[in-house]
Amino acid sequence: MLIILDRDGVINEYDGNYICSADEWHPIPGSVEAVARLCNAGHRIAIATNQSGIARSYFSSDDLDAMHDKLEHLVEAQGGCIDFIAYCPHHPDDHCRCRKPLTGLLDQIRQHFHLASLGGAIMVGDSRKDLEAAHTGGCRAILVRTGNGQDTERHLDARPIPGANVTIYDDLSKFTDALLSAGGW
Ligand SMILES: [Mg+2]
Ligand SMILES: [Zn+2]
Repeated sequence: MLIILDRDGVINEYDGNYICSADEWHPIPGSVEAVARLCNAGHRIAIATNQSGIARSYFSSDDLDAMHDKLEHLVEAQGGCIDFIAYCPHHPDDHCRCRKPLTGLLDQIRQHFHLASLGGAIMVGDSRKDLEAAHTGGCRAILVRTGNGQDTERHLDARPIPGANVTIYDDLSKFTDALLSAGGW
C-alpha cells in the first residue's frame, strides 16, 4: 500500500514555529521506527509537505535538503526507506497548485508511482489541510494527535469535512500498530 505522510507534526516535532535547519529538526519519538516498520511490511512511503518557509526566505532549499537527508538517514538506519518527498516551496499568496489543501503534491506522488489514482493510498496528517487534500485526492484520511492534531480534532468535531471519513490515532506509531496488526482495520 502507498502511505503518504505529512512531515511537520507527523514525523517530526512541530509547535507552530518554522523548522529552518537540520539541527532544529527532531523526530517525534517512535515515528522513524514507525516509518521503517511500514517499509519492512512492504508498504511504500511518500511525504507531502508544505514548506512555505522557502518562499518566506526563512530557509533555503539546501536547508530543506539537509533536513530530509537527516530524516532519510535515520529511517535507513532502521532498515526502511522513503521513496519520494514532494514539497511545496510556495507562499500562500503565490496561489500555486501544490500547497495543501490543494492536491498538486499528491498528483506528483501519483505520477512518481505511475498510478492511475490514489484510491488505494492512505494519507496521514495533523492538520485540516492534510485531511482535505487526502479527501479531494481520493486517499483514505488519517489524523494523528501529534503536532496540530489535537486542535485539528477539536475543530473537526465542530466543522467536519463533508463526505470525508477520518480515522484518528494518537501518533504515527499507533497508526502503524493498527495497520500492521493482524486484521487490524
Ligand atoms: Mg503537519
Ligand atoms: Zn506550491
